[in-house]
Amino acid sequence: MDAKLNADAAELAKFSELAHRWWDPAGEFRPLHQINPLRLGWIEEVAGPLRERDVLDVGCGGGILAEAMARRGARVLGIDLADKPLKVAQLHALEQQVAGVRYQAISAEQLAAQQPATFDVVTCMEMLEHVPDPASVVAACATLVKPGGWVFFSTLNRNPKAFLLAIVGAEYVLRLLPRGTHEYRRFIRPSELAQWARQAGLDVTQLMGLTYNPLTQRFALARDTSVNYLLAARREAA
Ligand code: SAH
Repeated sequence: MDAKLNADAAELAKFSELAHRWWDPAGEFRPLHQINPLRLGWIEEVAGPLRERDVLDVGCGGGILAEAMARRGARVLGIDLADKPLKVAQLHALEQQVAGVRYQAISAEQLAAQQPATFDVVTCMEMLEHVPDPASVVAACATLVKPGGWVFFSTLNRNPKAFLLAIVGAEYVLRLLPRGTHEYRRFIRPSELAQWARQAGLDVTQLMGLTYNPLTQRFALARDTSVNYLLAARREAA
């Protein structure tokens, strides 16, 4: 791997190994399938309808969000650095006959150098907590979005409750995720993410929590941002 690449080879290998399971709604990626309608709804609530808009999905994996946005009529580019998830994503879109989504193996930083100010909406979900230098990805997203466009992030908060719920609860007790999926030290406080966004020239406009109820086994958007959360930011208009 390129020494300068802002990526962790072990993390990418983890996602490649599981890639064939990506679209199994009861498999290892079940939580992503469950949260997908919620985050998609929130993105459209904040940014407006995605129809006919150019959207970039950074760290798209097997394409759960990218494909859903294309189904809403967006022109979507999904990027990731793990090869197998990208292949799975491509194949799934083909099988489902979803036009309007393309996939490419490239880093956000590399794409930002090639195509600044290109996308109306940039999404980067459940990815920053797997990257060595998340602030660099945030800056790349800010470069990639057009002036006046929207950037959406989601990740895991860093505090004792998040450790207990997102790692002990999700990986060991409820087994929602494979053990070793997440590393606590890579979790990101909303204040940290907001600061990186502002440093990159974005206005942070919304913060939304995502909670899980183990009894009903359902996720919901909520005010509580203590474990999983989404952040919306807008690039200043030119
Ligand atoms: N965003 C998708 C997938 C989340 S899983 C969703 O929410 O549905 C995390 C993804 O981030 C994996 O596909 C992994 O390969 C990718 N990833 C990890 N490090 C990356 C990096 N440095 N650059 C691009 N993608 C990365």
